Amino acid sequence: MKNNQTLVTSPLLPPLEEFIPYLENIWQSRRLTNGGPFHERLEKELADYLGVKYLSLFANGTLALMTALQALDIKGEVITTPYSFVATSHSLLWNNIKPIFIDIDPATGNLNPELIERAITAETSAILPVHCYGIPCDYNNIKKVADKHNLKVIYDAAHCFAVRNHGESILQYGDLSILSFHATKVFNTFEGGAIICPDSETKKRIDYLKNFGFADEVTVVAPGINGKMNEFQAAFGLLQIKHLDAAIEERKKIYQRYVAELIGIPGVSLLTIPDTVDWNYSYCPIFINEQIFPVSRDELYACFREKNIFVRRYFYPLIPEFPMYFNEADNIIETMPNAWNTSRSVLCLPIYPGLTEEQLAEVVGIITSFIQIRVA
Ligand SMILES: *Cc1c(COP(=O)(O)O)cnc(C)c1O
Repeated sequence: MKNNQTLVTSPLLPPLEEFIPYLENIWQSRRLTNGGPFHERLEKELADYLGVKYLSLFANGTLALMTALQALDIKGEVITTPYSFVATSHSLLWNNIKPIFIDIDPATGNLNPELIERAITAETSAILPVHCYGIPCDYNNIKKVADKHNLKVIYDAAHCFAVRNHGESILQYGDLSILSFHATKVFNTFEGGAIICPDSETKKRIDYLKNFGFADEVTVVAPGINGKMNEFQAAFGLLQIKHLDAAIEERKKIYQRYVAELIGIPGVSLLTIPDTVDWNYSYCPIFINEQIFPVSRDELYACFREKNIFVRRYFYPLIPEFPMYFNEADNIIETMPNAWNTSRSVLCLPIYPGLTEEQLAEVVGIITSFIQIRVA
């Protein structure tokens, strides 16, 4: 069954025998969690690898997001994107914050800073953008708007592990950035996540918050949560780092093959990666223009499913279409036309280390088969 299925992603798993010594170490030390030695090492090695100053590990990305909002005491309204995974705005609801959705820039899939400014009210306390597919947001203009209105900025950087712009990590922008190390991401610790912060004082506060608010054995300074990453996850992360460069290189080769095969097909467009960006090749979204391509995005999606190829429509539906966010008055089609159209045209193709040439050819073949039919 598994052998003739192609999924949109497949987790990076180093050879099992390489992980055994880490497990033996854990069994020997009997340190399973609460900031053990592997946890401490991974925080340091990841900060080095990513080129950031301070990093706090979490059990998953969603807890990191929820804690980031607590760490900065965000309240009221937060301006965010409708075009993301639901965890982005769920983190707001869990903190009793009202998400305000605005349209995206169709060229990048990211928030449009001009629209941010128009959505600010007296209740607005922060902006929560997503670097969608790992393409950097317009962080300079977002900072300008935030500074002018005294707002915090938290980046959901779940897609941008290792992404750099002009040679610098994009995780350093905003007040905080969060990462996800979920199995489906470029770097995984089965489940996992992190908050990147600029100074040791903020890291200290975040570290209290992820451990019930404990500052020491007898002092609880905040109603914290249990967001700690355990030693198994941290050990696995340390092993993963060794395989990362090769994994990203392999993703790059696959992405470039897709581009070579798909570029110029009428009605199919690809992401634009700015020249200044060292990207992580985390996703391979294509956008189907139904006016030009012979079949609709959903018909194409169904063809893939028939062939056991599980491409995904990231991100469809939009977050404000889900019942806990839906508000008739939002009039999504009119107020967020770019997000609406993007969600109706996107298809993410399989990309991961280990995707074979045959699998890639089959994916491409399904798309090009429609073009040949039209020409004939
Ligand atoms: C994966 C993801 C998350 C959630 O991360 P988890 O580690 O699965 O909790 C949040 N935001 C975005 C944009 C994601 O893609």
